[in-house]
Amino acid sequence: MADDLQGGCACGAVRYRLTSAPMFVHCCHCRDCQRQTGSAFVLNALIEADRVELLSGDVEGTAVPTDSGRPHAIHRCPSCRIAVWSVYGGVDKLRFVRIGTLDHPAALAPDVHIYTRSKLPWIALPDGVPAFEAYYDSKKLWPAASLERRRAIFG
Ligand SMILES: [Zn+2]
Ligand SMILES: [Zn+2]
Repeated sequence: MADDLQGGCACGAVRYRLTSAPMFVHCCHCRDCQRQTGSAFVLNALIEADRVELLSGDVEGTAVPTDSGRPHAIHRCPSCRIAVWSVYGGVDKLRFVRIGTLDHPAALAPDVHIYTRSKLPWIALPDGVPAFEAYYDSKKLWPAASLERRRAIFG
């Protein structure tokens, strides 16, 4: 499966590989994500920074304003400016990799839908995937192995 988890920017300068499955996958319908993607939601694979292997090129972080005031840097290809992942909270241990930049984005489906209070009205959410008006309690939703992985990076 990890072989499928390669991706990159539009111009091809940035290529990356996820060396394992992510801990969890968010589909976020918040206004920030809508604005930043120019779309209805963002798809983020939450994964340890050291499991994101840069195969070529480099990325440049840009701090963006957020509704929450929490730091958020979007990391982009310096040439074509496509966003490949985000870092929240100013600590680059956990990355939010944009699933749309994978070569095979169908490889990772959302584990949760969040901030559905600003979900666009024409989107029908699938049955069987948890959905929350705002954020959620990861301790209740994440698999034990993923919580363990997160503890290993944040202590
Ligand atoms: Zn590029
Ligand atoms: Zn969001």
